[in-house]
Amino acid sequence: MGQTENNKPGKLVIISGPSGAGKSTLLGNVFRQSHLPLRWSVSATTRPPRPGEKDGQDYHYLSKAEFQEKRDDGEFLECFEVYGGGEWYGTLKSEVAPRLEAGDWVVLEIDVEGTRAVLGHYPDAVTIFVRPGTLEQLGERLRARGTEEESQIRRRLEVARREMDSIDIYRHVVVNGEVDGAVKDLCDILEGHETKVVDTP
Ligand code: 5GP
Repeated sequence: MGQTENNKPGKLVIISGPSGAGKSTLLGNVFRQSHLPLRWSVSATTRPPRPGEKDGQDYHYLSKAEFQEKRDDGEFLECFEVYGGGEWYGTLKSEVAPRLEAGDWVVLEIDVEGTRAVLGHYPDAVTIFVRPGTLEQLGERLRARGTEEESQIRRRLEVARREMDSIDIYRHVVVNGEVDGAVKDLCDILEGHETKVVDTP
């Protein structure tokens, strides 16, 4: 079990929710406001960086060959082809186990399939699904962001619809209607787990 110097155990936190539901904005605020030792797990992906994204900060951007090599070497805790569009995403073991051991609260922002896989290893993870008010609102947000083509937006909406069907594998659901309220909900959920002990293998 992970321990900090002041003897507090580390915890694994999994956040999922449709792309464009506003998870990144919410989580940025949670990281700034929370007193908990939250640490971001930087995933690996084969998708190209969007404007403004930085390697090693938003993702570890890998070629398909590099990703496959790490997969073959067993470096991933989980990895999936998330939107069926040929791009892979995965959580590196090196982002998780050492940090839990150091007593950090490691935050994964991954999809539903990834969550199922990680729960197989860490059944006590704190799982939170962030959902948009409605799928129509999600479509509007994705179109306003303007970073995907219409065909990709449709695919993401289809995945969102399917992901919402798996909502009951999550312990908590937060509706991202109004930002401040959703940030407070997330902070309250995390702080509610502060006194509970989670075993890490
Ligand atoms: P985006 O391309 O918008 O950055 O991310 C697309 C989706 O990939 C997000 O909904 C996110 O939850 C998921 N994702 C990001 N990293 C990982 C990962 O390491 N594993 C899995 N399974 N999904 C991920």
